[in-house]
Amino acid sequence: MRRVAVLVAGVVLVAIFVGAIVLRAQEKRLVERDDFLMGTLIQAKAYGRYAPRAFDEVFARLREIEARMTINAPGSELAAVNDSSGKAPVKVSPDTFYVIQKAIHYAALTGGRFDPTIAPVVSLWHIGFPGARVPSPAEIASAVKRISYRNVVLDPAEKTVYLTGKGMGLDLGAIAKGYAADEAISIFKKHQVGSALISLGGNVSSLGAKADGKPWRIGIQDPLETQSTYMATLETTGETLVTSGAYERFLEVDGKRYHHILDPDTGYPAETDLLSSTIVAGTSIDADALSTSTFILGREKALKLVKGLPGVEAILIDKDRRVWVTSGLRSRLQIVNDSYSMAP
Ligand code: ADP
Ligand code: MG
Repeated sequence: MRRVAVLVAGVVLVAIFVGAIVLRAQEKRLVERDDFLMGTLIQAKAYGRYAPRAFDEVFARLREIEARMTINAPGSELAAVNDSSGKAPVKVSPDTFYVIQKAIHYAALTGGRFDPTIAPVVSLWHIGFPGARVPSPAEIASAVKRISYRNVVLDPAEKTVYLTGKGMGLDLGAIAKGYAADEAISIFKKHQVGSALISLGGNVSSLGAKADGKPWRIGIQDPLETQSTYMATLETTGETLVTSGAYERFLEVDGKRYHHILDPDTGYPAETDLLSSTIVAGTSIDADALSTSTFILGREKALKLVKGLPGVEAILIDKDRRVWVTSGLRSRLQIVNDSYSMAP
């Protein structure tokens, strides 16, 4: 009898041991998935046996966010809001309402340098799309008059959005990808994935460390080179990095380059002393809004703004290839291209 008991116990122990090894191996298995969505290449990787299931939900969610917030396809909630400008409030999903509310917050914070009602000029230039062109000064002057975040009326109880002027339009291109990245991370968490990385163009968000416990190493785009050439790297666990720069989308006419981040006052590409601005923070919706904002604000005002925001850090690259880094990142950033130098 005792012998049988010992034998059974032994078998159970071996089974538990083997099971644990198999589980551990599964936890370390890397799963990757790519897709083209929200006007950009989305690349996601995650470790663990729950990763494939999480991916299905992540990509479905990204598609849903895009369908609601794009202005590049008819039928979105944002298109409905814009079509009803000057006429009537439009009810939107909690998603869209939340992102618009955040966008208006950053518009107020930057004195309107960041302004989600920029759509009238964005659609005139259409930079990054077929048919992009330099609009006439008269067209720009007329479109600029229709930009003002102050003319957006939000009803939080009814979840309605009303643009008070005819011909006004919201564009969430500077913030929606950040929201999508945050949603992706929370879906991974919900599925008990402990280690994941998602990149949506210039937005990279990580969950935890890599499966081997080491941090993720993220490259900072060289703003003077073609995509995927890095000038610095940053090791990160559980943060988001969002970069805005003049290189991302632009139009070239008669040797002059026009980039896609526009000045709401002039309707022309924002004039800035920066080549790019990277924000490192806990949430990507904030980092996305802030990377666009700080790029427009320029070095001095950008540093001032970021220093006043707890948990937010910045890497600003100016036109002399000097790299301005806020104190929390100074010791972490590794410059890998000698033509860039750390500013004092
Ligand atoms: P990307 O989308 O290339 O990663 P950004 O997050 O910086 O870069 O967003 C740029 C987009 O934001 C533009 O393509 C346009 O849709 C929109 N946009 C342009 N100028 C402004 C502005 N001043 N304020 C808010 N949004 C803007
Ligand atoms: Mg942005």
